[in-house]
Amino acid sequence: MKKAIGIDLGGTTIKGTIMSEDGVCEHTTRVPTEAQAGGQRVLENILSLIDQLISKSGLQPSDFVGVGFGTPGFVDSDGTILGGAENLPGWKGTQVYAPIKERFGLKALGANDVTAVALAELKYGAGKGVNNIVCFALGTGVGGGIVTDGKLYKGTHGMAGEVGHIVVETDGIQCACGQKGCVERYASATGIVQMALEFSKYATGYEITPFVTAVRSFPDKITSKVVYEYVAAGDAVALKVHHKACDMLGRAVGVLINTLSPDRVVLGGGVMMAGNIIIETVSHYAKKHCWPAIFERCEIVAAELSEDAGVIGAASLALE
Ligand code: ZN
Repeated sequence: MKKAIGIDLGGTTIKGTIMSEDGVCEHTTRVPTEAQAGGQRVLENILSLIDQLISKSGLQPSDFVGVGFGTPGFVDSDGTILGGAENLPGWKGTQVYAPIKERFGLKALGANDVTAVALAELKYGAGKGVNNIVCFALGTGVGGGIVTDGKLYKGTHGMAGEVGHIVVETDGIQCACGQKGCVERYASATGIVQMALEFSKYATGYEITPFVTAVRSFPDKITSKVVYEYVAAGDAVALKVHHKACDMLGRAVGVLINTLSPDRVVLGGGVMMAGNIIIETVSHYAKKHCWPAIFERCEIVAAELSEDAGVIGAASLALE
């Protein structure tokens, strides 16, 4: 069975694994990123991790089909890191494919870390059995990935799949990307907390619910998890936050369903700990923003892979 090395680069840790075609991971290992030491050090740490993985496996470099890696930011088609990785100073501009080829004789293929997870979901998670999916990862921000005909769609410069920056409200909330009204400002954990603070600030009379009182008393303790505890309890203002987040996400989901007609839209990330209520509410709103015949042929489902999704996605890139 074909085997690949998968590397998932994070701001503090680099995680690596050896994955077979059936999705089984072995010898999973973590090393510190040492991000503050600059791009060349990060690259050295990746190379040394690949070395460790090959030794642990007892195999030769030629026994692997290649090295796949997921990274914050973007990977251009020649293996150069483009921007978008603010937590890794000096990583931008680093060439990754050539050093891996030189040292191990292996082909390397990289992608944005969240985008690579879409491929993992298609092959081994919520996208199993179909060919076309769109993934949304609802975390600190909103990332995503598009898989068409079973292949990850990266775009010419590896920048495709930035579904979090689809504008869903004209002159909406300012986003760090420079636009206003990006879906990330509403449907990420950060966006949900911001809306909770905002809605609580202006509540008066009967709108001062237990949730509003909690937000006003402990504004620093409010997380998307706390918001969803109040949603589960039926709190009117928490539900208002939930509906706004899902309405906005439903618009972005609708745009992508109309554009790509995927088999499934997969929702993952930390916010999805809240579970089925998000799937149901997003489906309700997405339907309003979709051509009915296309919407009927698409399912909106929860992601299935958890902590290993990053390395599985990375290794899947090399197995493609
Ligand atoms: Zn944006």
